[in-house]
Amino acid sequence: MLSWDTPGRVDVRLLHRHLAAHCAGYSLYADGPAATWELLTDLHDRGFLDVSAAPSRRLVTGLTVRRRTLPDGYLGLLGRRGRRAAEELARLRNFFDAHTVCSQRLFADYFGVADLPAGCCSTARCRCSACWNTSRGTAGERRPAVAEAFHSPRPRDGGRADHSLRDRRVDLQVHRLLQLQPQGIHPRRLWHALRGDETSYNPRSRKMITLPAALRDSRHFGGRADLAYAAVGESLARLAAAGAAAEDGQGLWRAIRTARPAGSGSEPKRSGA
Ligand SMILES: [Zn+2]
Repeated sequence: MLSWDTPGRVDVRLLHRHLAAHCAGYSLYADGPAATWELLTDLHDRGFLDVSAAPSRRLVTGLTVRRRTLPDGYLGLLGRRGRRAAEELARLRNFFDAHTVCSQRLFADYFGVADLPAGCCSTARCRCSACWNTSRGTAGERRPAVAEAFHSPRPRDGGRADHSLRDRRVDLQVHRLLQLQPQGIHPRRLWHALRGDETSYNPRSRKMITLPAALRDSRHFGGRADLAYAAVGESLARLAAAGAAAEDGQGLWRAIRTARPAGSGSEPKRSGA
């Protein structure tokens, strides 16, 4: 007789054998260990039991072979979802490849609309990127800053439209990292933190030193993998001019007030990196 009073770990095969032997009509519900496992997970889903397959590193799914041949149409049904996804992906690829065809026209084609509304893509306020790229009717018009930013490889910096926006973002990140190191930090270690390097070289001890956890855990760690070292110095100079950071004479920098540096008020919410 098995005891299941506090079953921390249950062998499903033994459980099945036990239930089949002691519960009248159990085999009508579950005709094998696989079905018992299915029953357990059903009970888990309904909140009656707490079942976890995590401790078992080998067998977590039970299968019973009932028929050696597949039902008619089974493979076709099974592949339906993948085929539909492949079709949609192909359409998406065509959409992005057709970068000289008006995007509104492509959308209309996709949704089966014959005619575009009058005035579609006719002014700078509503023109799609393809129409900008092919300069259809754009004489004397400038791409708006938003469209320009979107067109750039780094839209979150405002693209080529606004260098000062990128500078402000860098200043904000540098200031946040300074705040995390109230004892002061060398610009080179700041740079490594922005690049996402776990360690930096200390010329005094001639050793690779792991960056403090406070920096490594910051959401700005690795936030500027492409930043040139000189840009850190430029950012610190801007922060010093704004009264947000200062050097202590030993080469270490600190944030000198908790207020946000100038121009950081419009920092967008984190959207990824
Ligand atoms: Zn267009």
